[in-house]
Amino acid sequence: MEHIHTPVMRLVVGRPDGSIELLNGYRAAARNGRRLMAVSPAELLPLPDSATLAQLPGRRPLAIDSSGAGVEVEGDWLAVAAVLPVGHLRTLLPATVRDPGARRLPLFGYTAVVEHDGDLMCAALGTDSFDWWRPAHYARADLPMAVDAARQALPGNRLVEHLATCALENRCYTAQNTFHRRYEGALPASPACNADCLGCISLQTDGEVPAPQDRMRFAPTADELVEVADWHLTGDDAAMVSFGQGCEGEALTRDDTLVEATRRIRELHPGATIHINTNGSKPHILERLIDAGLNSVRISAISFSDAVFRRYYRPIGYGLDDVVACGALMRAHGGQVCLNLLTFPGVTDVVEEIEATAAACHSMGVHQVQWRSLNVDHDWLLDVLPELPTGIGMRAAHSRLRDLLPGVAHGNFTRPVAAAV
Ligand code: SF4
Repeated sequence: MEHIHTPVMRLVVGRPDGSIELLNGYRAAARNGRRLMAVSPAELLPLPDSATLAQLPGRRPLAIDSSGAGVEVEGDWLAVAAVLPVGHLRTLLPATVRDPGARRLPLFGYTAVVEHDGDLMCAALGTDSFDWWRPAHYARADLPMAVDAARQALPGNRLVEHLATCALENRCYTAQNTFHRRYEGALPASPACNADCLGCISLQTDGEVPAPQDRMRFAPTADELVEVADWHLTGDDAAMVSFGQGCEGEALTRDDTLVEATRRIRELHPGATIHINTNGSKPHILERLIDAGLNSVRISAISFSDAVFRRYYRPIGYGLDDVVACGALMRAHGGQVCLNLLTFPGVTDVVEEIEATAAACHSMGVHQVQWRSLNVDHDWLLDVLPELPTGIGMRAAHSRLRDLLPGVAHGNFTRPVAAAV
């Protein structure tokens, strides 16, 4: 008799002692926004090697019955989620129920995870595999020596000490690149910001969860920025320096200093990509930077509908018109324009959101959309954002936006200008 193999999907749950268990007897569920749904094998990718599993304190796992209703999982289990490496886009949230009074979760991109036919699988899409950012290139044994070389070459430069902490303690890839003098180097510039994002990774203003990085506490001078840029860009494999890092506020708030630094870096390195990661708040400053030699911008946005944008960014003194103007200015001057789309299942995949994003990309002349999973407590974000219509799913949204934006690249990482524009 022919044996028919039936794939088995099991729930991944946690014990309070920190161990992970697989549970039979339940239909696995995930969430798109608040909407509970059964996990389909078509949503799943094998869990990447550098992903981690996280127990979610104060959250219980939910399963689903055949009518689509939530089923409480019996026992003293904690919900478990996958946290994915960059280059992967989360498509579904974990199916969780928050205990009354549960504390906000730390800033990670919690992703549905199940065991399917013997393998751990996550609800995700692979979006980019640009060689510069492969984990194997990082945490090299010679990093401390590379840091010491920069300290000796640039004595008294506060940016070197700041980036040494980022590279050695926080394991920031861009800071490590700066010392190895290859790929994209980091030029964090600003301790201040003109927004207060719910998911800001350098400052959580209400202190409910720790920010994963410490916001820089000094404002580097143009001399300090130029010295570090020059040190990096004279490396054999260096191609790019970037203002606007995860350890700072908003680089555009440094106006005159940034303009001067950019002008001097461009004089020293005519072929380099000089890039800024920004919230897109100050088009008049961006225009001065472009005149000084900036040739690439990545603008971050969660949404191009005002209500969602404002509740997430809590911007001070700017709006979406400024964000779009920043992209359009760079495009008009022939530089590279990337959109860092902070995605969230149940928000990004709402039809009105997809259309607004596509329209903004047209207006900005976007070359590449970078699909990032927003790192934030999923229930807290949904509490704060306005109610939205049901989404079509992240996979469908990814495909729809590709159709609406012919000729636009979709990935996860910024390329040097010569390779991208
Ligand atoms: S714009 Fe950037 S630095 Fe400013 S609050 Fe938002 S995430 Fe933080």
